[in-house]
Amino acid sequence: MSELRDLYNDVILGHTKKPRNFGPLEDATAVAVGYNPLCGDKFVVRMKLDGDRIEDIRFEGDGCSISKASASVMTETLKGKTVEEAQALGVVFRDLATGKLDGMDRVDDLGKMAVFSGVSEFPVRVKCATLAWHTVDAAIAGQDEISTE
Ligand code: ZN
Repeated sequence: MSELRDLYNDVILGHTKKPRNFGPLEDATAVAVGYNPLCGDKFVVRMKLDGDRIEDIRFEGDGCSISKASASVMTETLKGKTVEEAQALGVVFRDLATGKLDGMDRVDDLGKMAVFSGVSEFPVRVKCATLAWHTVDAAIAGQDEISTE
Protein backbone atom coordinates (compact mmCIF):
# COMPACT_ATOMS: atom_id res chain seq x y z
CA MET A 1 0.00 0.00 0.00
CA SER A 2 2.84 2.43 0.73
CA GLU A 3 4.11 2.05 -2.83
CA LEU A 4 0.69 3.02 -4.10
CA ARG A 5 0.58 5.92 -1.63
CA ASP A 6 3.88 7.30 -2.96
CA LEU A 7 2.59 7.01 -6.48
CA TYR A 8 -0.64 8.67 -5.42
CA ASN A 9 1.22 11.63 -3.91
CA ASP A 10 3.38 11.97 -7.05
CA VAL A 11 0.40 11.94 -9.38
CA ILE A 12 -1.69 14.37 -7.32
CA LEU A 13 1.19 16.79 -6.91
CA GLY A 14 2.38 16.59 -10.52
CA HIS A 15 -1.04 16.99 -12.07
CA THR A 16 -2.13 19.76 -9.70
CA LYS A 17 0.95 21.80 -10.44
CA LYS A 18 0.80 21.18 -14.15
CA PRO A 19 -2.63 19.97 -15.23
CA ARG A 20 -2.73 18.33 -18.67
CA ASN A 21 -5.28 19.37 -21.29
CA PHE A 22 -6.26 22.42 -19.25
CA GLY A 23 -7.95 25.27 -21.09
CA PRO A 24 -10.63 25.97 -23.67
CA LEU A 25 -11.39 23.69 -26.61
CA GLU A 26 -12.64 25.16 -29.85
CA ASP A 27 -15.10 23.15 -31.93
CA ALA A 28 -16.21 21.12 -28.91
CA THR A 29 -19.14 18.85 -29.74
CA ALA A 30 -19.99 17.81 -26.18
CA VAL A 31 -19.79 20.03 -23.11
CA ALA A 32 -20.88 19.75 -19.49
CA VAL A 33 -20.26 21.59 -16.24
CA GLY A 34 -19.63 19.54 -13.12
CA TYR A 35 -20.06 20.92 -9.62
CA ASN A 36 -19.22 19.39 -6.28
CA PRO A 37 -20.89 21.67 -3.70
CA LEU A 38 -19.37 19.78 -0.76
CA CYS A 39 -15.92 21.05 -1.67
CA GLY A 40 -16.56 23.83 -4.19
CA ASP A 41 -14.93 22.05 -7.13
CA LYS A 42 -16.30 23.27 -10.45
CA PHE A 43 -15.09 22.23 -13.88
CA VAL A 44 -16.26 22.39 -17.43
CA VAL A 45 -15.27 19.44 -19.59
CA ARG A 46 -15.27 19.84 -23.36
CA MET A 47 -14.92 17.04 -25.87
CA LYS A 48 -14.55 16.90 -29.60
CA LEU A 49 -16.14 13.71 -30.81
CA ASP A 50 -15.36 12.15 -34.16
CA GLY A 51 -18.16 9.64 -34.56
CA ASP A 52 -17.98 7.80 -31.25
CA ARG A 53 -14.30 8.50 -30.73
CA ILE A 54 -13.03 11.19 -28.36
CA GLU A 55 -10.68 13.06 -30.63
CA ASP A 56 -9.89 15.72 -28.06
CA ILE A 57 -10.87 16.48 -24.48
CA ARG A 58 -9.98 19.45 -22.30
CA PHE A 59 -11.13 20.91 -19.02
CA GLU A 60 -11.25 24.29 -17.30
CA GLY A 61 -12.27 25.53 -13.90
CA ASP A 62 -11.12 25.37 -10.35
CA GLY A 63 -11.14 22.97 -7.47
CA CYS A 64 -9.08 21.20 -4.86
CA SER A 65 -5.92 19.34 -5.82
CA ILE A 66 -7.61 15.93 -5.92
CA SER A 67 -10.40 17.09 -8.23
CA LYS A 68 -7.96 18.87 -10.52
CA ALA A 69 -5.44 16.03 -10.65
CA SER A 70 -8.23 13.56 -11.33
CA ALA A 71 -9.62 15.67 -14.19
CA SER A 72 -6.10 15.99 -15.61
CA VAL A 73 -5.42 12.24 -15.48
CA MET A 74 -8.88 11.59 -16.92
CA THR A 75 -8.31 13.74 -19.99
CA GLU A 76 -5.00 11.98 -20.61
CA THR A 77 -6.69 8.61 -20.23
CA LEU A 78 -9.71 9.32 -22.41
CA LYS A 79 -8.14 11.04 -25.39
CA GLY A 80 -8.50 8.71 -28.37
CA LYS A 81 -10.88 6.33 -26.60
CA THR A 82 -14.42 5.58 -27.75
CA VAL A 83 -17.42 6.85 -25.84
CA GLU A 84 -18.18 3.29 -24.76
CA GLU A 85 -14.63 2.79 -23.47
CA ALA A 86 -14.85 6.11 -21.62
CA GLN A 87 -18.05 5.08 -19.87
CA ALA A 88 -16.58 1.69 -18.94
CA LEU A 89 -13.43 3.36 -17.56
CA GLY A 90 -15.66 5.71 -15.57
CA VAL A 91 -17.25 2.73 -13.85
CA VAL A 92 -13.81 1.28 -13.10
CA PHE A 93 -12.61 4.63 -11.75
CA ARG A 94 -15.58 4.97 -9.41
CA ASP A 95 -14.97 1.42 -8.15
CA LEU A 96 -11.33 2.34 -7.49
CA ALA A 97 -12.19 5.59 -5.70
CA THR A 98 -14.76 3.89 -3.48
CA GLY A 99 -12.44 1.01 -2.63
CA LYS A 100 -14.38 -1.69 -4.49
CA LEU A 101 -11.33 -2.32 -6.65
CA ASP A 102 -7.78 -2.59 -5.38
CA GLY A 103 -5.59 -0.04 -7.18
CA MET A 104 -2.41 -2.01 -6.56
CA ASP A 105 -3.84 -4.88 -8.62
CA ARG A 106 -4.63 -2.57 -11.51
CA VAL A 107 -1.58 -0.31 -11.77
CA ASP A 108 -0.23 -2.27 -14.75
CA ASP A 109 -3.28 -1.84 -16.95
CA LEU A 110 -4.75 1.39 -15.58
CA GLY A 111 -1.60 3.36 -14.77
CA LYS A 112 -2.20 6.68 -13.05
CA MET A 113 -5.92 6.08 -12.82
CA ALA A 114 -5.26 3.26 -10.37
CA VAL A 115 -3.56 5.48 -7.79
CA PHE A 116 -6.88 7.20 -7.09
CA SER A 117 -7.88 4.12 -5.13
CA GLY A 118 -5.92 5.97 -2.41
CA VAL A 119 -8.91 8.31 -2.17
CA SER A 120 -11.08 5.51 -0.79
CA GLU A 121 -9.34 6.07 2.55
CA PHE A 122 -10.90 9.54 2.64
CA PRO A 123 -14.63 9.15 1.88
CA VAL A 124 -15.22 12.91 1.85
CA ARG A 125 -12.79 13.25 -1.09
CA VAL A 126 -14.40 10.57 -3.24
CA LYS A 127 -16.73 13.15 -4.82
CA CYS A 128 -13.73 15.35 -5.61
CA ALA A 129 -12.01 12.48 -7.41
CA THR A 130 -15.04 11.30 -9.35
CA LEU A 131 -16.38 14.74 -10.34
CA ALA A 132 -14.66 14.93 -13.74
CA TRP A 133 -15.80 11.41 -14.63
CA HIS A 134 -19.42 12.24 -13.76
CA THR A 135 -19.07 15.37 -15.87
CA VAL A 136 -17.92 13.37 -18.90
CA ASP A 137 -20.88 11.02 -18.48
CA ALA A 138 -23.17 14.06 -18.41
CA ALA A 139 -21.58 15.51 -21.55
CA ILE A 140 -21.97 12.17 -23.35
CA ALA A 141 -25.61 12.02 -22.26
CA GLY A 142 -26.23 15.55 -23.55
CA GLN A 143 -26.72 16.97 -20.06
CA ASP A 144 -25.46 20.53 -19.62
CA GLU A 145 -24.51 20.24 -16.01
CA ILE A 146 -24.24 17.88 -13.11
CA SER A 147 -23.96 18.26 -9.37
CA THR A 148 -22.59 15.51 -7.17
CA GLU A 149 -25.15 16.29 -4.51
ZN1 ZN B 1 -12.57 18.83 -3.88
